[in-house]
Amino acid sequence: MIKVEHLSKQFDGVAVLKDVTTEIKTGEVVSIIGPSGTGKSTFLRCLNLLETPSGGSILIDGVDILDKKTDVAGIRQKMNMVFQSFNLFSHLSVLDNLTIGPVRLKGTNKAAARQKAMDLLRLVGLAEKAGNFPDELSGGQKQRVAIARCLAMEPQIILFDEPTSALDPTMVSEVLSVIRRLAREGMTMAIVTHEMDFARDVSNRVLYMDEGIIYEEGPPEQIFENPQREKTRAFIHRIR
Ligand code: ADP
Ligand code: MG
Repeated sequence: MIKVEHLSKQFDGVAVLKDVTTEIKTGEVVSIIGPSGTGKSTFLRCLNLLETPSGGSILIDGVDILDKKTDVAGIRQKMNMVFQSFNLFSHLSVLDNLTIGPVRLKGTNKAAARQKAMDLLRLVGLAEKAGNFPDELSGGQKQRVAIARCLAMEPQIILFDEPTSALDPTMVSEVLSVIRRLAREGMTMAIVTHEMDFARDVSNRVLYMDEGIIYEEGPPEQIFENPQREKTRAFIHRIR
């Protein structure tokens, strides 16, 4: 579905992504792990064009999205992102957070958008919070709303950037179980995470990023049990 070739990104002349080549297939769950500051967020942000890559190509179903003619809003809808800090609209109710995208960007009619939103809130266990505002929710609830809002746009792939890093430990599992469920249902996902047990269970493939490159990639058994390269081994050893 997504093919990334020789992707690079510099900020003020500093190379943050050096030469990233990989692909994500339909239905695949790919986890991205590695030390902080190594370009994991930048990589996800380049995929949905929140950052403009400095070089290389990103193909979706064979079409290069770095072409100037690309419909950027369309790409972000196809590859919708869930952030560490939730990024809910604080002035809108939970229900309106879910309907605003479909109504404004996709032209969905309001009644249909509301119905779909309620279905999604039920899916994440928060139907009773439809009329509440984000401030009235716990962190775990906010992140479940953010996932439901993302699903409301009917993305083909969801990009998660450390979806549980801002949460109290008690709330991590309620969010991870929603993501696990999406994985079981065949959603294509790329997930930057520090939750190693989760990454091992849920992923088809793990990318270990270090200093702006994918230093090692492979099935979770390889990366977690039998890493082939020195820095991967050191990282896995360190976090155990
Ligand atoms: P990670 O997600 O792996 O922790 P990031 O992709 O957030 O890493 O950041 C990689 C490097 O790029 C860091 O050194 C960070 O300071 C730098 N960086 C990220 N975004 C910007 C930006 N908008 N402007 C300048 N430097 C940035
Ligand atoms: Mg990051």
